[in-house]
Amino acid sequence: MERGQKPNKPAFPEPFARVVEAFRRLPGIGSKTATRLAFHLLLSSDEERAILSDSLNTLASRLMPCRDCRNIVERDADNPETPLQCAICRDPARDRGILIVVEDIQTLYSLEKSGEFRGLYHVLEGRLSPLEGINPDRLRIRELLDRLNDPEVKEVIMATSPTTDGEATALYLSRLIKPMGIRVSRIAFGIPVGLEIEYVDEVTLIRAVEGRHPF
Ligand SMILES: [Zn+2]
Repeated sequence: MERGQKPNKPAFPEPFARVVEAFRRLPGIGSKTATRLAFHLLLSSDEERAILSDSLNTLASRLMPCRDCRNIVERDADNPETPLQCAICRDPARDRGILIVVEDIQTLYSLEKSGEFRGLYHVLEGRLSPLEGINPDRLRIRELLDRLNDPEVKEVIMATSPTTDGEATALYLSRLIKPMGIRVSRIAFGIPVGLEIEYVDEVTLIRAVEGRHPF
């Protein structure tokens, strides 16, 4: 090496770099954490790595969306294509008169963790965003309206993010639902406006549901 010339940056061997890159694509994981996780796995036992890779390989194939609310449900091993209801929709103890609309399954599980919401859910799978080209057809709105034909439903709570897109989504839905004679309410956040709902903790979430106001 000539004097003053820096050595090349060390590059990871390809099989290792691949794992680092896969982790780095995950939300909230930077290069440093990705590398740490990859080294951890490299030093783990074959069995530990097998548990991880098996669970990842079957993550999507063993799950399907709930027939009613779009929560995840495990497929029937004998009839994998048969639509199923999730444990929440199947639970006879749930209040069928009240339905909470969430953007994603993560928010559903945050609310469930609080153990205080006894109604049912509907997962929109996103929120309206004209800038990102997400129009009503891209969301599970038709499925929601179908469910609201059930005369048992008395109230729909909009638990979309307190962001511009989240508010627009709630407003859009309320205009569709109110004429059906169903009460529509909006969760009341005691947190700064603009926060994505997936980052809201479950206590704040359930308080926001309890403090909801009519739309
Ligand atoms: Zn369900």
